[in-house]
Amino acid sequence: MTEDSTFTLATRAIHGSSHKDAHGSPHVPIYNTTTFVFPSTANLLDVVDGRTLGAFYTRYGMNPSILALEETLAGLEGGERAWVFSSGMAAAAALFLTHGRDGIVCIGDVYGGTMELLGAQLPLLGIKTQFILASEQQRLDELLGTGARLVFFETPANPTLALLDIRAIARQAHARGALVAVDNTFASPVNQRPLELGADLVMHSATKYLGGHSDLTAGALVGSKEVMTPVWNWRKNLGSMIAPETASLLSRSLRSLVVRVRQQNASAQAIAEAMERHPRIARVLYPGLPGFPGHELAKQQMYGFGGMLTIEVKGDGAAATRVAEKLKVFALAPSLGGVESLVTQPCTTTHHGLSGEERARRDISDGMLRLSVGLENPADLIDDLAQALA
Ligand SMILES: *Cc1c(COP(=O)(O)O)cnc(C)c1O
Repeated sequence: MTEDSTFTLATRAIHGSSHKDAHGSPHVPIYNTTTFVFPSTANLLDVVDGRTLGAFYTRYGMNPSILALEETLAGLEGGERAWVFSSGMAAAAALFLTHGRDGIVCIGDVYGGTMELLGAQLPLLGIKTQFILASEQQRLDELLGTGARLVFFETPANPTLALLDIRAIARQAHARGALVAVDNTFASPVNQRPLELGADLVMHSATKYLGGHSDLTAGALVGSKEVMTPVWNWRKNLGSMIAPETASLLSRSLRSLVVRVRQQNASAQAIAEAMERHPRIARVLYPGLPGFPGHELAKQQMYGFGGMLTIEVKGDGAAATRVAEKLKVFALAPSLGGVESLVTQPCTTTHHGLSGEERARRDISDGMLRLSVGLENPADLIDDLAQALA
């Protein structure tokens, strides 16, 4: 997809909040306070009853550091409202409890914590959750016929980078009266904005690209006023609020989001091309490679191909483990989206809990190494991979 709002996005990341500091700070400072003082009961009631938007109590999100962050995030994803949370999982939980109580259909591979919440925990509350592989999308109609009101998925998915067609799934779900929520963590709003493609809600682990420095844990949901309003009370009473310090740190990170992600896209593309030519690599999974099965779809629904790629080392899992351990610049760690490059072997970390057969069914091999490309010089990253593979 070609970007028609480049200037808007990069500018919004910096000037996206209308909150002005009383003392002239260019950005809203950290309001490290739990409560706010009112001159009169009438003023207090104006805020409580929603006649004026204002600071009130931090757990409600009514704190300028948090409100400024939410306004910026809503602008980046193109939604009317954004609510931030203490983690990505807190955002997912609030999403499912608000909009998934009549049943949830999950498509393709999702984050391990999300899988556990959907597969093992929500059913304990009587919430019916159903799963289909990305290749079984034709079953969506049948499952939505059973009353499910929420369709949830990730694209690109972890660790295969498999893509799902957001426009097509949204059309199918809407025809059955269901909402569509997309975990946009891997792409970030720089590379993909699901609301523009027909999704109703976007979820983020802000711990990853939005935070971008591996130094904060946070989450977010974005959508229209209509779908976001009922989420607010769930967040308030589940108590899953972000801390003001974290909100301020995340706002700071968003100001550089566009340049960070664009560089990560370019570096990942260069690494993917170099790895494709390497004799010890069996497969490279990256949406920016013309031979990748999702490449055409990526061009239709993404503005950039992302900073995540998966390489498959020839040989067995032990061979891939040795490569991961020989890397010097790529650090052996789960998580992603930071300025430092990371490597993980899915069969020993993110997908360790799945049986060998289940991993095979999902096309996840033991030789796979997932790379989160940081902001180091891409030539150094390619050299690092070459020495580890030698
Ligand atoms: C990390 C991650 C999550 C969970 O986020 P936390 O901030 O760790 O709670 C959810 N989805 C995806 C795709 C993730 O990578």
